[in-house]
Amino acid sequence: MTTFKGELELAGQKIPQTMKAVVNYAPRDYRLEEVDVPEVGPDEILIKVESCGVCASDVKCYEGAESLWGGGGSPMYVKAPVIPGHEFIGHVAKMGERAAQTRNLIPGDRVIAEQIVPCWKCRYCKRGQYWMCQVHDIFGFQKNVNGAWAEYMKFPVEALIHKVPVDIPERLAVLVEPLSCSIHAVERGRIEFGDVVVLAGAGPLGLGMIGPARRKTPSKLIVLDLNDRRLELAKHMGADLVLNPAREDVVARVLEITDGYGCDVYIESTGHPASVGQGLAMIRKLGRFVEFSVFNQPATVDWSIIGDRKELDIYGAHLGPYTYPIAIEFLDKGLVDMEGVVTHVLPLEDYESAIEMVHTGKESIKVVLKPGLVKGS
Ligand SMILES: [Zn+2]
Ligand SMILES: [Zn+2]
Repeated sequence: MTTFKGELELAGQKIPQTMKAVVNYAPRDYRLEEVDVPEVGPDEILIKVESCGVCASDVKCYEGAESLWGGGGSPMYVKAPVIPGHEFIGHVAKMGERAAQTRNLIPGDRVIAEQIVPCWKCRYCKRGQYWMCQVHDIFGFQKNVNGAWAEYMKFPVEALIHKVPVDIPERLAVLVEPLSCSIHAVERGRIEFGDVVVLAGAGPLGLGMIGPARRKTPSKLIVLDLNDRRLELAKHMGADLVLNPAREDVVARVLEITDGYGCDVYIESTGHPASVGQGLAMIRKLGRFVEFSVFNQPATVDWSIIGDRKELDIYGAHLGPYTYPIAIEFLDKGLVDMEGVVTHVLPLEDYESAIEMVHTGKESIKVVLKPGLVKGS
């Protein structure tokens, strides 16, 4: 039982007045600034950021994608100026009075909040479908829910907060957010014993699907990617077979492996429209297709494959609803192998290089920003 005596502060650490933060003003106009440490109201919690991953969506935001900044049929989603970052892990630094009473937390606890901050008032939130919240505030995209490319951040009253055991190494704990999304996509595929499962795309999300998919006991888990280094890691993480569509006819290979029928489940997370047609071609009749990607342009396919020719089940997957506790448990108990996914940890000051590294994706897989990291350490 915690008794609240005024403001609780992170043991032995004085919370400063100001902090370093990256602020997104507009596409390609991000600035490293000294800003005020957020004030916390009675229901809010101040978090000292431990580290924060750079997501492909952060890169799209930086580059001004229409899906985030409006245009091409998409509404304006970003509300700038805003501090980016939704793949964070941190420690409770200070709790508002009511938060200290209602949340089962004490200063120093290692915590994560789900990336979406639900409104809890709309049709979806009221039905428990909070990841589809109509308002759809996500940390790091709207100025009312600043993200974690900063030394401190604030969890508002609406936030879904989970404790994260301190024994989970930081390089794995920082993957809880993407792993939660991967687990949700795998669940959507409803993998059954003996299924042949194809995961298209071995980025941090696709790689994160390998362990959870493995736990569903498929007969064969096949991973596709254009990057051989990522395929090598995929194999190491539990893929039975890895194929590079740049070097071989992957549709023909999958048909050959499955006696001409095709795979049972195809989970698409490449971001390339060509992967959609490829999936429809290699999936068996009555198979399941899961779409996780965000595309830069529309994917054009022969839609009659879905009905007339194969009667497929097509599932979307978005965010990681109800999967954070599973991701935390998987990492805590070592039930999934995520070693090797975090390839680079950079100080906050190097956010531009971090974005560039994720953009090219040649040398890096997951790039993490760590406030307070001293260069060269
Ligand atoms: Zn993300
Ligand atoms: Zn809502």
